[in-house]
Amino acid sequence: MAREKRSVPGAAAIKLEDGETAAHEKRAVSVTVYPGALECDVCYGTLTPPLFQCVRGHLTCSTCTGENGYECAWCHEQETTFRCRVMEHLLAGLNVPCEFKHKGCAAMVPYGDKKSHESSCFYAPCYCPIRGCAARYSGVTLLGHLENNHPEIGRTHVKPAVVSSLMMCDGEPARLVYLNLDGGGAAVFLLVVDRSQMPAGRTLWVVRLKLELVKEEQEQQKEFRYKIMVAGKAGILSLSGEPEAIGRLTAPYKASSFLFVPDVMLDDHPDQGLPVLAELS
Ligand SMILES: [Zn+2]
Ligand SMILES: [Zn+2]
Ligand SMILES: [Zn+2]
Ligand SMILES: [Zn+2]
Repeated sequence: MAREKRSVPGAAAIKLEDGETAAHEKRAVSVTVYPGALECDVCYGTLTPPLFQCVRGHLTCSTCTGENGYECAWCHEQETTFRCRVMEHLLAGLNVPCEFKHKGCAAMVPYGDKKSHESSCFYAPCYCPIRGCAARYSGVTLLGHLENNHPEIGRTHVKPAVVSSLMMCDGEPARLVYLNLDGGGAAVFLLVVDRSQMPAGRTLWVVRLKLELVKEEQEQQKEFRYKIMVAGKAGILSLSGEPEAIGRLTAPYKASSFLFVPDVMLDDHPDQGLPVLAELS
């Protein structure tokens, strides 16, 4: 006689890969699992459904199963196409803490979503583009990091579509430029001057810094433009475009466009710093 599936009062349904659902009681139990028990036997990567096992029980992730032509990489049995339903059901019910719990993230995420959560987690350590800054900030925007941890970086307020002088001191690594918007508030830009990229000159680049990571609807609707100019003895160098908007840097920043200012262009006034003009709108 076929057994009927028992329904659990107050159960939460958890979806599996092929549309099946597993019922779990709302009252969770806490268990400690050695991480190796949740890894693929072949690549040691995260086990995510569908999971397969060979006739001897070796467990493989779907990626490894296809790559080996359905031969078990451990025991070389030919067939690895058996779904391991028990493990799939177990994983579907697992919630794990975020890797950045120690940084302040309180999220408990489904085991299969752990990597994607952590790649965008607000508490993941982020990079600072300022030369010499090795700080890894987390739980804050890049703008927040710059405002809180870089008092040496100057602040300049400018009006829209007005060419403004940002005379940079010799060795000044960056400048925060606040564009006062007509309707109130400000958009914040970062001008970086980097001497480490090119010999005998400096590279300048501009990005816009998001004020917040999530609530940026109004800012996103507006398109910003920048133009920076450096006047030297041979003429004026300029760069213009739409600035990239940055909330946090989860990898070291590489500017896609920058202005190269050769030292020879500024030889006439080596002590005066860098005469930069900026027009933001
Ligand atoms: Zn694998
Ligand atoms: Zn095997
Ligand atoms: Zn997190
Ligand atoms: Zn920094």
